[in-house]
Amino acid sequence: MRRKLAAGNWKMNGALSAMAEVQAICDAHPAPGVDLLLCPPATLIWPMASMRGSHPMAVGAQDCHMAAKGAHTGDIAAPMLREAGATHAIVGHSERRADHGETSATVRAKAEAAHAAGMTAVVCIGETLEDREAGRTLDVVGTQIAASAPDGATAANTVVAYEPVWAIGTGKVPTLRQIGEVHAFLRAKLVARLDDEGTGIRLLYGGSVKASNAAEIFAVDDVDGALVGGASLTCADFSPIISALE
Ligand code: PEP
Repeated sequence: MRRKLAAGNWKMNGALSAMAEVQAICDAHPAPGVDLLLCPPATLIWPMASMRGSHPMAVGAQDCHMAAKGAHTGDIAAPMLREAGATHAIVGHSERRADHGETSATVRAKAEAAHAAGMTAVVCIGETLEDREAGRTLDVVGTQIAASAPDGATAANTVVAYEPVWAIGTGKVPTLRQIGEVHAFLRAKLVARLDDEGTGIRLLYGGSVKASNAAEIFAVDDVDGALVGGASLTCADFSPIISALE
């Protein structure tokens, strides 16, 4: 039985003044049935990880470098993020694939670095609108999952987030049938490659999840939660999404 996961990706938003909002999110969710993860900018990992709400909340990074240390100005290694309190690292978000030219091989190396540091990698994949319209969605996500997820992926150290690029921050969402088709396809790929661990890995949907569409998306088979961007920034927006998983 996979536990549900509500994960928030704050992207390049948030300041120390947002800690009260985080406290509110934690305190609003004492229910034990849902795991909660917030991934703030790196500057907020330590203060967020030091907070204690009534609901245990994991804190994650939005990226990590593939090396454990070295001459990589501006980058942050997974062991450093772990030391700051992050237990998870998002890798391969489409904004990083696009803005920083990250390939699936890079993403896989980053996921391996997260694992080596004792962290859970949240591996993101998803098709562009062009891929979708050309009927290439399953080919694209199949290739991405094969190349981005490490061989050592387990239910404990890996989460996969299916995020259609065209749905991120746009207010557009695939149909429930489309989401179900991709999640069933990804589940089959994970099981074929990783056996029981593939059954246990949580598959999140991400892309314009909000209070009004969360419950119907979460009712789709093999949707084990969500990776939420904009709607994870405030307790008012994120709480109903978490509640829809309970
Ligand atoms: C995301 O950034 O991963 C995301 C899904 O964003 P949004 O929820 O704002 O579409």
